[in-house]
Parts: sequence; C-alpha cells; structure tokens
Amino acid sequence: MLTKIRFGDYEGYGEASMPPYLGESHETAAAFYRKLNLAQFNDPMRMEEIIDYVDNIAPGNHAAKCSIDIALHDLVGKMLNEPWYRLWGFSKEKTPSTSFTIGIDSPEKVKEKTREAAGFNILKIKLGRGTDKEIIEAVRSVTDVPVCVDVNQGWKDKNEALDMVHFLNENGCVFVEQPMPKDQPDDVAWLTENSPLPIMADEAVQDFADIKKVYGVYSGVNIKLEKCGGLRHAHMMMDAARALDMKVMIGCMTATSCAVTAGAQLSPFVDWADLDGNLLIKNDVFEGLKVEKGKIVLPDAPGIGVKKISDIGLV
Ligand code: MG
Repeated sequence: MLTKIRFGDYEGYGEASMPPYLGESHETAAAFYRKLNLAQFNDPMRMEEIIDYVDNIAPGNHAAKCSIDIALHDLVGKMLNEPWYRLWGFSKEKTPSTSFTIGIDSPEKVKEKTREAAGFNILKIKLGRGTDKEIIEAVRSVTDVPVCVDVNQGWKDKNEALDMVHFLNENGCVFVEQPMPKDQPDDVAWLTENSPLPIMADEAVQDFADIKKVYGVYSGVNIKLEKCGGLRHAHMMMDAARALDMKVMIGCMTATSCAVTAGAQLSPFVDWADLDGNLLIKNDVFEGLKVEKGKIVLPDAPGIGVKKISDIGLV
C-alpha cells in the first residue's frame, strides 16, 4: 500500500509492504488510516510529535505506521532539500554492498540462479529444508563470493545447528540469520556462544522493545522498516543495538523502490545490507537507489530520494 502526504507544494511518499505472516493487510491498513487525522498538525517538522501520535492510535499496525513514517520523512527532507542520509550525518560513500537472495530450490536451479547473480559481492542463501549442504556446494561450484545464509527458523536441534555453522564457516559464510525457532532462545543463546559466525535475529526481533529480548541471545539484529514502524524506530533500534555492541543489518520486504530506498538511507551505518526487494518485482512505480558493482548507490535527491515514475496506485 502506497501513501502520499501533502503539505503546501510538497508531497512525501511512503509504502507499507505487508507479508501475510506479520498479520497486516490492505484492509487493516485502510482501517488504521481512517483513524488518523494528520491535518491537526500545522507543521510537518514536528516529526517526533506526529510519529508519537501515529504510534499511539492503535497497537501493532507496524507496516501501516511505517508507510506514514516514510512519507513524513520524505516530505520533511524535501522541505529541507536534503536527503536523510545527510540529515542523519552519514556518508554516501560508506554504503555497503547489498546481498542478493537465492531462494530454496534444487541444486541445479540454485546453480543457475547463482550464475544470474554475478555482479553481486555477497549472496544471501536461503536454507533450512534439509538440503543445506547440497545447496551450499551448488553455490560454491559456481562462485566464491562471500555468502550469508537465512535459515528462517529451520534448524530445530542446536548440536546439528552448530555442525552446520562450522560447515558454513569453512565455506565462506559471513553470518547466519535466524537459524532456529524464535521460541527456542536458550538453544539460540548456546549456539551464538559457541558459533564462529555471528548469529542474527530476524523473526525474533520486530520492534524497538524487542532489542532487550534478543540481547545476549543473538549477535545482532536484522532491522526492517515494515517490522518496526519506519525510519525513526529503525534508527532508534540501530543506536540501541550499537550501544549493546550488537551487529546491525538492514533488510527489507519485497517492495517498490520507495520502501527500499528509504531503508537504504540508513545503510551507511550498518554491518550488512539486504536491500534487494525492489529487484524482485516487475511493477515498480518509483526510481531510487541503484546497485553498482554490487554496492548500494544512494540517489542525489532530497527526502528518501525517490522519483515517481508511474501514477499507478498513487492518485
Ligand atoms: Mg530473514
């Protein structure tokens, strides 16, 4: 769902991408927006107050809130004529490479997808369905670029998980995302303590308040705007994770360049970025971040840095 906030001659764009497992939909987001009255604020620069108001309209609704938060950031950045990476004090040159995702498939298909992903400096390999070693061997038969893996809670036994982590460590893997179910924190804490690789939380961490749940259990957090409610909360999570000496990763949902470019504004400050969601769709209505030689290139444009290239969905 795309949103637009208008103030005077300025327009800010936002997006809520809603994967079904997080429980939001067009219906829940539309119901949430019907409760909002942003016209009561006469100055978009009062961002803290506005976002606090939006947060307190109803619990949950993180993606719907995220869409408002992104649009507000876009609007304010345009009013100030600066991109957010500059307003936050980040260097454009320090953007990381983004990983490109290779989904679960037969070893032959994985080889083919890996060949197609030539040009990316790091690949994110989805694992967790019992064919993990075959998949990694298929990737390694084609390329030796670094990989990270996302197990999506797929490993249930901690000893087997540790064996796999050692195997991955010997095969050029840089971190392991959500190896075990989020409701097995004791097993994950044991794995993290014994693992030669950082163990990152994804499903186990949603918003700012969850940082305290994953501290001491995981090495770091995968922050996504749609999970936490937008840029303001994502920035707060990054600061909290850094203060606790945890690794920081920025991820995204399958989305247009709007949400992905917004997330990319924070990317100069992360350890790893997984911002390929806009590359996985064919109906993008925005132009924003680019990936050159595998590295994220932020646009020279104010706000979140996107340009609308189609009116579809944004009347
Ligand atoms: Mg994940």
